Amino acid sequence: MPSELSHLGLEFGQQVYQIIADLLTDTVSPASLSAMEHGVRETLLKLGNFLLSTWLALQNQRYPDPTIPCRCGATAQYREMRPGVLITLLGRIAYRRAYYLCATCQEGTYPLDHRLGLRPGQMSAALEDLAAQTGVQLPFGQGSDLFAQLTLVRLSPQSMDTATQAVGAERQAVETEWIATSQDATALLDQERETPPVARLYGTLDATKVHIVEPSDPAASGWRDLKVGAWFETDAQPPAQPDDDAWDIQARDITYFCDIQEAADFGDLLWATGFQRRAPRAAELVFVADGAPWIWNLVQEHYPQAVQIVDWFHASAHLTPVAALASSTAEECAAWRKKARDDLWHGRLTAVIAACADLVTTGDQNDPAQQAVTYFTNNQQRMDYPTYRARGYQIGSGTVESGCKQIGTQRLKVPGARWSLAGARKVAKARAAHLSREWQPLVQRRVHLDRAA
Ligand SMILES: [Zn+2]
Repeated sequence: MPSELSHLGLEFGQQVYQIIADLLTDTVSPASLSAMEHGVRETLLKLGNFLLSTWLALQNQRYPDPTIPCRCGATAQYREMRPGVLITLLGRIAYRRAYYLCATCQEGTYPLDHRLGLRPGQMSAALEDLAAQTGVQLPFGQGSDLFAQLTLVRLSPQSMDTATQAVGAERQAVETEWIATSQDATALLDQERETPPVARLYGTLDATKVHIVEPSDPAASGWRDLKVGAWFETDAQPPAQPDDDAWDIQARDITYFCDIQEAADFGDLLWATGFQRRAPRAAELVFVADGAPWIWNLVQEHYPQAVQIVDWFHASAHLTPVAALASSTAEECAAWRKKARDDLWHGRLTAVIAACADLVTTGDQNDPAQQAVTYFTNNQQRMDYPTYRARGYQIGSGTVESGCKQIGTQRLKVPGARWSLAGARKVAKARAAHLSREWQPLVQRRVHLDRAA
């Protein structure tokens, strides 16, 4: 035994021996390999729990310093050893550590908690990390069950929720910092001076519905828009023909961001995340999105230099309900649609609008042909597809848009799910960070939380 472990003594070895012996003697003839695997895993968890407890106990000095400096500048006195409980990847750990009290400011401190980032009574940073990674992928109930099977540590659905929201709150704090930086003129100048420009940066915006239930605030309740955006880069060329298979835009370095708030506030986040991606410095900035007016208003306000493109699939989808009005025969409807789609692809917007206008009947808001006329007229500047293709711009937001949808629909739009506004925002933000591969920096901030406090 290495000398630093020698004072652990014989009892240490006996306890390790006992944990292993319990397994081997309790089940002399196991029923199956599965039972053996499970038994060994349970035993490893017990051993791990014992090791972590012992290791923590070794962190205490045998004779604690009688005094330590206090934050206030005075001196804190050693009072006693106090117990605490940690909830870790190795189960619950009971431990003891020195407690100091400052007579001047009356603040009590646990130096060991600060040094190691211990959070008595709460999940450890490592446990919280894994629980939150599960929580961004699965409903908390399902996540809790899977988590217990994978780790042998049982966390309640409520704890999965707490962990996920904690990471979401961290992301929210980071975004607040980003917003402050992006509105700081000095930071803007620094970016101009110091960072090389991006050649071509893409942006997209979208929205999905989330069911919010706020018993104390009926106005905030109901189906609310979760606004989602993404920044990305790609070198892939757009397809030469609309029916080509080359629609995978191969987006890389995707940054997702989202919130449930009014468009004007969301604009701050759009600007701040764009600043992080050096959007103001991009030689070419290209937005591809559907035709929703709030989207183009925000783009126009914050990035007037950007090329605005209505996503090809959204644009061409507007022709389908109109084609159904063209004839009573399926063949003629298909022929109408093919012709209109061809005109759209080649940028003949006047022809597209005229073809739709021919089919207007009532002319009111429910007339699909009238809707199409309005849509194509309002967005025709954003549908110059031949020019975009010639410049090599992506005209479909495809995979990135599905990522935007994933934040809302796959996780927040679970049947029967009811979210508080704060809960939905934090879980969505955690999920956006996860999809953006920005998880680790958030977890690192959480690790250092107690040390900074
Ligand atoms: Zn003090």
